[in-house]
Amino acid sequence: MRPLNVQIRLGNLRHNYQILKEMHGGKLLAVVKADAYGHGAVRCAFALADLADGFAVATIDEGIRLRESGITHPIVLLEGVFEASEYEAVEQYSLWPAVGNQWQLEALLSRHWKKPVKVWLKMDSGMHRTGFFPHDYASAYAALKQSEYVDSIVKFSHFSCADEPESGMTEIQMEAFDLGTKGLEGEESLANSAAILNIPEARRDWGRAGLALYGISPFGGSDDRLKPVMRLSTRIFGERVLQPHSPIGYGATFYTSKSTRVGLIACGYADGYPRRAPSNSPVAVDGKLTRVIGRVSMDMMTIELDASQEGLGHEVELWGDTVNINTVAEAAGTIPYELMCNIKRAKFTYIE
Ligand SMILES: *Cc1c(COP(=O)(O)O)cnc(C)c1O
Repeated sequence: MRPLNVQIRLGNLRHNYQILKEMHGGKLLAVVKADAYGHGAVRCAFALADLADGFAVATIDEGIRLRESGITHPIVLLEGVFEASEYEAVEQYSLWPAVGNQWQLEALLSRHWKKPVKVWLKMDSGMHRTGFFPHDYASAYAALKQSEYVDSIVKFSHFSCADEPESGMTEIQMEAFDLGTKGLEGEESLANSAAILNIPEARRDWGRAGLALYGISPFGGSDDRLKPVMRLSTRIFGERVLQPHSPIGYGATFYTSKSTRVGLIACGYADGYPRRAPSNSPVAVDGKLTRVIGRVSMDMMTIELDASQEGLGHEVELWGDTVNINTVAEAAGTIPYELMCNIKRAKFTYIE
């Protein structure tokens, strides 16, 4: 069998949830959209079932999948519905929809709900994707408040730069949020991972943890408080020595400068490893760091082995414990979110 493996360490997931909840205080949503950032939403939700206050997803289908597998916790639909007819499923599966614009609001209010719905009313405090502007927020809130179909309202907003402490944006957004929600009763939610870790004033009634829940620092590098959940590894299935001045791989982008031992490993961009990861991107053989050389192909890639390094048959970590996924993401000009979401064709193993 092709030896591309993803280990999901559920103990680390539980550890991260507990640390983040303690840090945030109040209640904490485990954000499991996009199949739990590629980790497997159902397995992750069950691993957190006795700890989590609730879960958050991006689509109705993701919410339904959790419900049908037996998750009974609150489930927030972070972007709300994409068409009015989806409110049917919102009611049937007892999801908590976000409302972030006028049509979502009107469609919700014009429906005859059999039981009142809990709404997450989104403010656009400065990211300018979705949400009611601060000056429109109170009237949207009032429209919901007056409806017999609305059980309660959680006021929330999302930060654009919480992972860039120097930007000043988060302070501006918090001020806009606090002004726009002034005098409106109910619970609040502001903090994503970066804000939970770094911005105490953003900790309100509900936190929303994604990236850090999976053990990855939103600030690049690593964070000792978090334990990586995903570990991607493969094996060396070919080994050879190339003469100096030998090109390797598509485009001949890398030439050996000396006689070089090269390991061929089973992982490529069709598995979700980024093709943009250049030569020198880190990998680890049996826990010892080395580097990618030559372009990443669809199904395989080549790595450098030094004289002391084990070769054929040995394990190579692409990211996880020795290789920080943030380093790979930076080398490839992307973010760890994208790398984790993209993994496919690998064998997933869940470790308790
Ligand atoms: C995805 C998402 C989160 C989680 O963000 P992280 O940076 O992964 O912690 C929180 N809130 C909203 C609205 C989101 O869409």
